[in-house]
Amino acid sequence: MPVGPASADPRLPEHVTMTEHAAQTLVSLTFDDGLDVHLDVAMPMLEAHGMRGTFYVSPGAEPFAKRSGEWIAAAQRGHELGNHTVFHPGVSSKPWVTEGIALDTYNLDRMRIELLAADRILHMLDGRTSRSFAFPCSNPNLGRPGLPRRILAKMGLDRTRLMGFVDRHNLDVGSRLVDYTPLVREIFPSARCGGVAAVDLPARPGDWHRVRGIDGDGATIAALDEALDMAIERKAFAAFVFHGVGGGHHLSVGLDVLDHLLRRLSGEQSVQVLPFVDAVRVLQQETNHH
Ligand SMILES: [Zn+2]
Repeated sequence: MPVGPASADPRLPEHVTMTEHAAQTLVSLTFDDGLDVHLDVAMPMLEAHGMRGTFYVSPGAEPFAKRSGEWIAAAQRGHELGNHTVFHPGVSSKPWVTEGIALDTYNLDRMRIELLAADRILHMLDGRTSRSFAFPCSNPNLGRPGLPRRILAKMGLDRTRLMGFVDRHNLDVGSRLVDYTPLVREIFPSARCGGVAAVDLPARPGDWHRVRGIDGDGATIAALDEALDMAIERKAFAAFVFHGVGGGHHLSVGLDVLDHLLRRLSGEQSVQVLPFVDAVRVLQQETNHH
């Protein structure tokens, strides 16, 4: 990683400033869901290049709880433990979503309690008071959808143009869906959601609480190369989103693909790799100074 004196110690990302790097490309490597492969595979790979990542964890999940000591040690080495809710709620049409964590049953108050609870637990573990958030499944909505949406979901059509049509034209009759981004804005300095195509990557995110990541799951070496080229050309902030690493999740990046990306990142003089919360803080300072 091309680090200047200001960021020579990766354990002290709070002290990183943009002063010497004003025109640089910033990259964050983010990994969702607190998986064993993050501790066993991703972190050693990043650390071999002196890099630190952001790991969005749900502290109520069993894999995380089982290895909490190792997660604490990871935070002490400079990785960010990002907030990913306590229970990772999802829409009820997904097979892994039980009634208790169905977003249909959530309201803003319950989500607020859960986000704050996750923050308290993570604070007990790593002592930090500032961390970023990632929307589970990149979905900013909670509450019960209307009948049209529920029917489409039941028919397995919830990721189709038809659903987009229903949403765009407000045809979801009876919808009680609520966007909880305002809550996220109150609690967190920054937040990441999902997928932006590399060609659409903006130089700076339009919204620090809806920063769209570049999907690294299942990506090819060529796709990530292209995304990085684009980010460097635009001096952009690129947050890569991963789940599994060489397995460990149904969404996963190949070991060779991640290895290639890390090698490229460490060779690019104009690129600085920082945990998400730190990268956004640096970029916000830059904005304030102009
Ligand atoms: Zn997740």
